[in-house]
Amino acid sequence: MDCIFCRIIAGDIPSHKVYEDDATLAFLDINPASQGHAVVIPKEHAADLFSLSPDALAATAKATQTVARLLQRGVHPEGINILQNNGPSAGQSVFHYHVHVIPRWSGDRALGMWKPGATDHAAFATLAAQLRGGEGA
Ligand code: 5GP
Ligand code: ZN
Repeated sequence: MDCIFCRIIAGDIPSHKVYEDDATLAFLDINPASQGHAVVIPKEHAADLFSLSPDALAATAKATQTVARLLQRGVHPEGINILQNNGPSAGQSVFHYHVHVIPRWSGDRALGMWKPGATDHAAFATLAAQLRGGEGA
């Protein structure tokens, strides 16, 4: 087994568990972006969003909400980011589907992904129409 997260599920690699149910496991990220940064994973191995089964996706989404509530109660963040990376260009480094739950505080600079800028509404309208046309593709 060369998947780090499958090895964590199997107990071969230790982790700091935050939540577990039949279909999912959540544990603290070893390199946290902020205090309490947790990762929620399905127990079923799938590399990414595209290969994950709908049932495992739904279970992971439900567990994500539970973990967000646990973090809300536990570290009292001002906000929480949910982040899910697919592919190396998107920052995915572990190829077992996972959802990051990242507590946030004003000015913490934990994530710096979006830069403010002028919105090109015409380009947005074209892109949104193009995306709607590709629904289900
Ligand atoms: P990705 O970059 O694939 O979206 O996120 C993978 C995350 O897994 C990273 O934030 C990284 O810190 C975390 N990670 C990688 N290996 C381990 C590990 O062995 N234990 C824990 N707890 N987290 C890990
Ligand atoms: Zn795996």
